[in-house]
Amino acid sequence: DEKNVARPLTSDNIRSFVDSVDAFLFDCDGVIWKGNKLIDRVTETLNVLRSMGKNIIFVTNNSTKSRKQYAKKFLRLGLSVSEEEIFCSSFAAAMFLKVNEFPPDKKVYVVGEEGILEELEIAGFKGIGGPEDGKKLVDLKPNCYFEHDKNVGAVVVGFDHYINFYKLQYANLCIRENPGCLFIATNRDAVGHMTDLQEWPGSGTMVAAVCGSTQKEPIVVGKPSTFMMDFLLKRFPFDTSKMCMVGDRLDTDILFGKNAGCRTLLVLSGVTSLSTLEDPSNEIHPEYYSGKLSDVLDLLEE
Ligand code: PLP
Ligand code: CA
Repeated sequence: DEKNVARPLTSDNIRSFVDSVDAFLFDCDGVIWKGNKLIDRVTETLNVLRSMGKNIIFVTNNSTKSRKQYAKKFLRLGLSVSEEEIFCSSFAAAMFLKVNEFPPDKKVYVVGEEGILEELEIAGFKGIGGPEDGKKLVDLKPNCYFEHDKNVGAVVVGFDHYINFYKLQYANLCIRENPGCLFIATNRDAVGHMTDLQEWPGSGTMVAAVCGSTQKEPIVVGKPSTFMMDFLLKRFPFDTSKMCMVGDRLDTDILFGKNAGCRTLLVLSGVTSLSTLEDPSNEIHPEYYSGKLSDVLDLLEE
């Protein structure tokens, strides 16, 4: 079945592929950068695509930064990108609450880092918890009783490298005891590049811990969920058949693109190898694959 075989980008198909795309959605880690290093010749490639009139949007599942903080990171790496062109999962969590008319007088408990707290604040919500919460060990004396705020109406779980037992109990009690409390996950990525050299446990780890105690499943707002795409399309109403999602992860990026009817390009500069793509157990097939983003540039110039 031809649909189940990803084709390599080549000098024969590059032109018709690029011509058929109006807007590129780029995943960040593994496509644009790896940790804090730009991937080879990304700047030149983005410049050429922009000069061809292509729209460019960035979609990252990394919830540790806000859009503002991402705009700064892009600038630090020498890329000029406006906040409006960045869709990160911390922003998606705040927008999910907004779209669903979450009452601003209720609180949001955050298992996660600054990005989520900042996006909540910008959207007018009161976030509590966050990286600094529960620094002391919970003292599990027999008479220990853990108090939580009954006015928490939503728990947002994202990547949190300060995760601890206090936060897990706080989230657990809010979700189980506060009537109607929402359980929102920014994303469930198994691993991420917290450093340049290695993969580390991703936010799927923190989400799984909260699922474990509550026995509930979260609403996921990042890739591959359709929430992020629907929200993006409200702001940028492109024709999805003329959009291409470019990513390095099959179960987030490529699925995200395919779910929305976009074209898809897998790059092998991140977490997915050619052997994983071609493994018979893989059921997520991108339309094209390529070594890295700048191959587009090289193939166009051939
Ligand atoms: N979440 C965290 C904490 C990460 O460090 C990363 C990648 O480094 C991701 C998510 C995945 O980000 P992206 O969607 O840009 O690949
Ligand atoms: Ca990625």
